Amino acid sequence: MKIKIKPTITCPNCGHQKEEEKPTDTCQFFYKCESCKAILKPLEGDCCVNCSYGSVACPPIQENNSFGEITCCS
Ligand SMILES: [Zn+2]
Repeated sequence: MKIKIKPTITCPNCGHQKEEEKPTDTCQFFYKCESCKAILKPLEGDCCVNCSYGSVACPPIQENNSFGEITCCS
């Protein structure tokens, strides 16, 4: 299973989509929308904005999925 490293974050506030260019080998807890400047935080139960608003789960969860488990990256 190949890990996607360029997630697309969708802002829940304005719907703006942004493909992150930088490799994400760590989780991002806060994310600032470049369109409406809203500061996004993970939804309850999610470990990072990637999991809440991204197109792909964060790398640690993707790795864990290959072993059939879903665990948080914290
Ligand atoms: Zn926004």
